[in-house]
Amino acid sequence: MSARLLLGEPVAEKVRQRIGGLVTQLAAEHITPKVAVIVATDNEATKWYVGSIARAAAKLSVACEVFDLGEATEEFIAETIKTLNADELIHGIILQTPLPQGVDVSSLVKLIDPAKDIDGANPVSLGRLSVGQDAFAPATARSVIEILEHYRIALSGKHVAVIGRSAVVGKPLAQLLLQRDATVTICHSRTVNLAEHTRRAAVCVVAAGQPHLLASNEVTAHSVVIDVGTHVTESGELTGDVQSDSVQPLVAALSPVPGGVGTVTTALLLLHTVQAATNFLERSRREEWQMSAGR
Ligand code: NAD
Repeated sequence: MSARLLLGEPVAEKVRQRIGGLVTQLAAEHITPKVAVIVATDNEATKWYVGSIARAAAKLSVACEVFDLGEATEEFIAETIKTLNADELIHGIILQTPLPQGVDVSSLVKLIDPAKDIDGANPVSLGRLSVGQDAFAPATARSVIEILEHYRIALSGKHVAVIGRSAVVGKPLAQLLLQRDATVTICHSRTVNLAEHTRRAAVCVVAAGQPHLLASNEVTAHSVVIDVGTHVTESGELTGDVQSDSVQPLVAALSPVPGGVGTVTTALLLLHTVQAATNFLERSRREEWQMSAGR
């Protein structure tokens, strides 16, 4: 037996269709959704990733402007974020890491207006998410949910083990799972006996940043495994956090790397941009109405 493969492409295609519908509605109001991507590194992988966002945006009639700041100081990056916050033509802001040495990313993400925080980087977004208020979740965390929902993997009342507790993936994902009534266990680098948690989980999401961490003795024939990890091997191949060769023949379903979570992430960043533009339009209308009603 081999696992059912939970491919990202059909999920991404569905997201792109949602984007298309919203872009058409916004065009009727003369609004072009626009995302700003701030880059301050020469890192080749980052440049490639940002290029892929720009190409995907162009195909979906979403404007994308890359602000390549080079070896910028923290102050200059902060000023750029503030300028973009104030720019009504920009609906989404992404601060791409890595940043130059000595620049404190946690101080900078706090400056991103939550209404434009389309990758859920500001701690305010995570806070709102955790109390069930409107906020953009980090696109990677939401990708996991979109994949599970697309393939009709039940979450309500199910036990889900999330391996990884970062603010980018593990923690926001746990909140999204709780919102769907899953019983969530967050495992991390100090967790004792990982297999005890992963083997009793219906769904196991691996976001540990450790190549080939999840092994065959940590899964069962009923496990649904989502691999969030991305690593480039010495031979230049992309691989994940799951020992896919030994795990895939054993489990019920597996999202592959490449071709799984990462495939959906960019589409979700653009969906969030378009949703932010839609929210902006609704806010402007409300304000206009309040002004005309003299409130
Ligand atoms: P991170 O390094 O910030 O966090 C890793 C987490 O895993 C930590 O909470 C740590 O406690 C836990 N961990 C580490 N070793 C462990 C072990 N042996 N057992 C149990 N837990 C362990 O990483 P991150 O930013 O959350 O990213 C995680 C992975 O997801 C990375 O491989 C990253 O490249 C990938 N990622 C993929 C996408 C995508 O779109 N596909 C986006 C973001 C991150």
